[in-house]
Amino acid sequence: MTKAYKIIDHTYDVVVVGAGGAGLRATLGMTAAGLKTACVTKVFPTRSHTVAAQGGIGAALGNMAEDSWEWHMYDTVKGSDWLGDQDAIEYMCRNAIPAVIELEHFGVPFSRTEEGKIYQRPFGGHMRNYGEAPVQRACAAADRTGHAILHTLYQQCLKHNASFFVEYFATDLIMDDDGACRGVIAWNLDDGTIHRFRAHTVVLATGGYGRAYFSCTSAHTCTGDGNGMVARAGLPLQDHEFVQFHPTGIYGAGMLITEGARGEGGYLTNSQGERFMERYAPNAKDLASRDVVSRAMTMEIREGRGVGKDNDHIFLHLEHLGHEVLHERLPGITETAQIFSGVDASKDPIPVLPTVHYNMGGIPTNYHGEVLRPTADDPDAVCPGLMAIGECASASVHGANRLGTNSLLDIVVFGRAAALRAQELIKPGVTHLSLPKDSADQSLDRLDRLRNAKGARSTADIRLEMQKIMQVDAAVFRTDKTLKEGCTKIDTVRGSLKSDIGLTDRSMIWNSDLMEALELENLMACAQATIRSAEARKESRGAHAHEDYPDRDDATWMKHTLAWFDDKGDVTLNYRPVHTYTLTSDIDYIPPKKRVY
Ligand SMILES: Cc1cc2nc3c(=O)[nH]c(=O)nc-3n(C[C@H](O)[C@H](O)[C@H](O)COP(=O)(O)OP(=O)(O)OC[C@H]3O[C@@H](n4cnc5c(N)ncnc54)[C@H](O)[C@@H]3O)c2cc1C
Repeated sequence: MTKAYKIIDHTYDVVVVGAGGAGLRATLGMTAAGLKTACVTKVFPTRSHTVAAQGGIGAALGNMAEDSWEWHMYDTVKGSDWLGDQDAIEYMCRNAIPAVIELEHFGVPFSRTEEGKIYQRPFGGHMRNYGEAPVQRACAAADRTGHAILHTLYQQCLKHNASFFVEYFATDLIMDDDGACRGVIAWNLDDGTIHRFRAHTVVLATGGYGRAYFSCTSAHTCTGDGNGMVARAGLPLQDHEFVQFHPTGIYGAGMLITEGARGEGGYLTNSQGERFMERYAPNAKDLASRDVVSRAMTMEIREGRGVGKDNDHIFLHLEHLGHEVLHERLPGITETAQIFSGVDASKDPIPVLPTVHYNMGGIPTNYHGEVLRPTADDPDAVCPGLMAIGECASASVHGANRLGTNSLLDIVVFGRAAALRAQELIKPGVTHLSLPKDSADQSLDRLDRLRNAKGARSTADIRLEMQKIMQVDAAVFRTDKTLKEGCTKIDTVRGSLKSDIGLTDRSMIWNSDLMEALELENLMACAQATIRSAEARKESRGAHAHEDYPDRDDATWMKHTLAWFDDKGDVTLNYRPVHTYTLTSDIDYIPPKKRVY
């Protein structure tokens, strides 16, 4: 059956999968360095989820008050609850300042201070002098920072004549018998043709998997496709149990109200009108780290102090900021609040609830963006020919909890790092080894199997069941009971995806049902890795709040989880050590201590 497909072959030095901020920054760097680079993307580049980023990109520019990259590094390590790799964190925070200046020179229209410098606002967990008081570190283009960055990077790519394959859906990696990655298979959504991209290096930049949950702030396209491809290629997924809930998703709709709103002076109240964050985080208050604020809100609701007729959400107040600040600094979210909750933010509080927002875990990499295939002898062994950057990757700079503004930073810093590494590893135009004969078979069999599936359940129905399980059983607070039940339920729905799915439109052309089924397989792998890894981790750290084990346990658990998939799709776990060293002797390792805000 697979012979029926028309396969079109392409040869490149590098193929980047994904055209969000990470993919575009890598594509730009590689193309500018003279490497023949293709960027393959399932949506038009400027529709990638990066476009929705609101609040800012973190860098210790010190434009508003004194700041330093060492403080930024300290905050990031503390924010990660000591699960981040400190060599990678040093690399990111040190490179943050030149990265933002570079974006400015590329043409990003940042908001300005009176003196014409880049405007910076406070954000959760970013503090001065090793945790003393909030600092203004988030470089912002109003509340549309991601939009400004993504469009600028795309224009820079066009300026360098980068090659784009738009609305091509990457299905699987091509791996050779020695375990190296040699290319990627993609399906052209426009005409149904299959494209085999052969490359010295494939860079995965496919974004997060927020859609494994029922309520999330991420786009419908955030389906963990890169993570799924890696799992099927026999490589592990790291730290998937760490899923960030953003404190302020709009109640009932899930759209994000940026933390920048609290950065500009917004605050949360419960049904008694109390600014309860003062009790939970006396110093940082409403600007404590996201996991801390989300847990505090959940506690307030559980203890009966939620607002609304069902006492099931919290109020975010911006009314006191006045029309001018809202108009100038927060125009996007003022509009979002109006549309999705019917609230005029200059008059009334916005109803909010913690909502799934970001995946700290992903494809394990080193700070060059090279994907790891850890072995017992070498936990940092590299998989040749494969890189991963951005939200799909775990470098790991965010550890158990990401600080706001550190993801836009991560995507540009590691997008650039991957391009620099590729220049070291690849000489332009070097001949490619021949591909394994069966290089497209796995992918085509998968397409065939799903396309011809005639079961009774729709893709949407199975997806919804999976999303609801994740929402309930792998939530802000977790227990042994919910996680155990969640594992069993996810296994059942995974079985259903295998045997009960039926597709309506069997064509290869404009078959959105087939695409969603492929995405669902990727989401399912992400969900499985998340709940299995969470069930195994018997401690609380960052975003993983385990009620049966409320304390962090560094002696046993200061290690990265690795989830490996076998041919049947079953998961086994093992672990690799956290990097407890820095990159240079300029700065010392920051030893673990209790995390208070
Ligand atoms: C609402 C919202 C607000 C945010 N605000 C901030 C903020 O203010 N500051 C901050 O630091 N972070 C913020 N974040 C987080 C940050 O925006 C993201 O983590 C980051 O932009 C992810 O970038 P990326 O390049 O890794 O992926 P994305 O931007 O998600 O791009 C993924 C790309 O991969 C492509 N792709 C995926 N699968 C396939 C496939 N199978 N085949 C081909 N192509 C594929 C897509 O087409 C897309 O181009 C926010 C996130 C959200 C959801």
